[in-house]
This record gives sequence, C-alpha cells and structure tokens, in this order.
Amino acid sequence: MKGYVHSFQSMGAVDGPGIRFVVFLQGCPLRCAFCHNPDSWHKEQGQLFEASEIIDKVKRYTEYFGKEGGITLSGGEPLMQPEFAAEIFRLAKEAGINTCLDTSGNFLGNVPEDSVKTLLSYTDLVISDIKHADKKAFKELTLGSLEKTKTFLKLTEEMNIPLWIRHVVVPGITDGTREVLEMAGIAKKFKNLKKIELLPFHKMCESKYEQLGITFSLKDTPECSKEKIQVLTSLIAAY
Ligand code: SF4
Repeated sequence: MKGYVHSFQSMGAVDGPGIRFVVFLQGCPLRCAFCHNPDSWHKEQGQLFEASEIIDKVKRYTEYFGKEGGITLSGGEPLMQPEFAAEIFRLAKEAGINTCLDTSGNFLGNVPEDSVKTLLSYTDLVISDIKHADKKAFKELTLGSLEKTKTFLKLTEEMNIPLWIRHVVVPGITDGTREVLEMAGIAKKFKNLKKIELLPFHKMCESKYEQLGITFSLKDTPECSKEKIQVLTSLIAAY
C-alpha cells in the first residue's frame, strides 16, 4: 500500500520515548495558527512510498532503538491516511518494533472510524494535544474542534493505549494559568494519560510561510520563554 510522505528523521529523540525513526506523513487539514510545518498541509505534495519500503528503512536503525525506541508516525496528520498508517504499524509490530502515533486526533468527519481503530490496534503509544481548553478559542486557533479531540482521546482510553498530551504554549493565547490548568484538567480525566508536556511556541517556521506565500497569523506574537514553561509545568504537577 502506498501513501504520501513529507520526510523522514532517522534518529529522532523528541517524538516519543528513546531513539525513534520518525515518519512525517503529508497532509493535514487543521491549519493550526501555530503550525510549524505548513509545507505538510497538502497531501498530494508529498512523495509516494510503499509501507514496506518505509519499514525496510526503519529496520536499518533497530540496533539504536534499545528498549524504548521505535517508529513514530507524525505529520502532517497521520489520521488523514489511516489505512496507510495502519499498514506501516502492522508491519512494524510484525518486526517487533515499538510504535508511536503523533496526532491531533481531529478526524474532521472525513475519515472512517474503523480505519482509525485498526491503526490504534497496532499503536503502543499515542501523543496528542488539546490545542485549547476553551471550545470557542479552539475554533479560533484551528479548523478542528475540542469535541473531536475529546472523542479521539476517549477512544484511546477505551482501547487502553498509553497517552501523552503535548500542549503548545503560545503567549497571549494558550499561556494563561487558567487555560493551562483547564487543559490539564481535561487531560487528567483520561485514565490512560501518562504525561503532559508543554512545548514553547517558536517562530522558526516563519521562512516556510514566506516561501509558500501563506500568511503566518502569529508573526507578531512573541516566542514563549523557557521560564514560562517551567512555571506552568510546576503548576500542572501540583494541580
Ligand atoms: S495538526 Fe499539526 S500539522 Fe496539522 S496544522 Fe496543526 S500543527 Fe500543523
């Protein structure tokens, strides 16, 4: 089975536990205002690969994976190609490789739930995010919805898949103490939650937006400081 790929990272250290081979799939309809990969939005702009070709690449790195590492599917949005993603993970599990799915979880109503369930059945860890704890603010920030995120997270809970939540802290938008604690409150309701991580908003993607001729709506928003992340992380831990 073939699917659209944006790029590969052979020795990733931040997209899941241990050393990981990260496959960035092409295509995402969510248009998050803080997206740092606008070049991954249009599926057909990716390069076509067979799932088996990808696993052959991953197998070259298994000696570096140790006990925790493996393959991560990220994007773009892996759920926009659920059958392809499921085939990659099926082959990975057949080869004894740990699987991690990094997804927004917003199906946008155009992906069959059965395909997503099949994908999840081969998934060892889900990394997802709650882009904003407030319904209205979520919709202002993305083309998705908080309800769709919650529905997806519930599915991971029902399927008992360990869950990490990552939250991008954007000054003036998602960095308020109340917003962050509300986000943590939503996340902590899911019994499969293992970790919440805060990621600082940065603007290293600005040149990509310029090259693509897309307006970067957060151009004038300041980047988030490490100190802010530390303060908010401590608040979440004590919450
Ligand atoms: S879900 Fe991820 S890839 Fe898609 S627009 Fe949002 S940040 Fe970008």
